[in-house]
Amino acid sequence: MNYQRMKSIKILKQIHTEEEARQWVWKCRFGEKDFICPGCEGESYWQHKAKPEVRECDDCRKRLRVRAGTIFESSKLPLLTWIRALSLMMQGKRGISALELKGHLNISDHSAWLLLHKIREGLRQRDENYTLKGVIELDGAAFGKKAKENQAEVLVAVESKEWVDEKGRKKEKAGFAKVKVAAETKWESQEFVNQAMEKGSFVNTDASPALRELKGVEADYRVMANDPEALESWLPWVHRFISNAKAWIIGTHHGVDAKYLGRYLSEYAYRFNRRHDPDSLFHRALTACALAKPITARSLCA
Ligand SMILES: [Zn+2]
Repeated sequence: MNYQRMKSIKILKQIHTEEEARQWVWKCRFGEKDFICPGCEGESYWQHKAKPEVRECDDCRKRLRVRAGTIFESSKLPLLTWIRALSLMMQGKRGISALELKGHLNISDHSAWLLLHKIREGLRQRDENYTLKGVIELDGAAFGKKAKENQAEVLVAVESKEWVDEKGRKKEKAGFAKVKVAAETKWESQEFVNQAMEKGSFVNTDASPALRELKGVEADYRVMANDPEALESWLPWVHRFISNAKAWIIGTHHGVDAKYLGRYLSEYAYRFNRRHDPDSLFHRALTACALAKPITARSLCA
């Protein structure tokens, strides 16, 4: 069976027990295999009977815990709860709020909040190393309400890709997107460009002073002056991304604390970046979490 392309709802019908959940996480860690020893690369193992989360290498006796070194490390929640949360989060475009998740899984407010943020961290790590290339739209935006002192500035970059339709007409579509919570200053913008884009990319921006002299890329700008037509022709994807992300923050989450906006946007970008293959989302997100470095509750809240 091809697990990688199975819809969340189908997967949930196959995972009923903690044992089944553990087997899924093992497989995600080892690229569909049940075990690969990090010491000797042996694939045969012994399953501890008394410690169901531990497998031991048959050759070198190295022991591995299913959660160790993953985003699930140090969590007391069953892996089945994690898998259900991931499937609920990834089953549609809108995701799920902590309040809704709490109702579905019968866990505390704090557990639901923490679980979703840890998953977001896993997704963030997965996309972190991807670099944008080709033609890229770049702009800054403010999320949240200034009046309530809950505003955060964000830099957003989206690849703009050309393709040719069946009648030979040139069309454009959005490629991969990246987001960074940072003010639109010269320094922050340059940092973002250095981290997120390949050298020599073509970067389209508006005429804001911070974006006019970007280095390492071929930057070009046009004066927008809030002209919707100019925006639509020069920076269409980045603006669609920003307005849809804002609508999502309000629609699903009813606004969020500016302090945590970055992780929410990591989730939004993760889904956006895989929008053409929604059936694979759950499996990919589970794999991302199984391969991500752990994060403590303390550093999540810091
Ligand atoms: Zn071994």
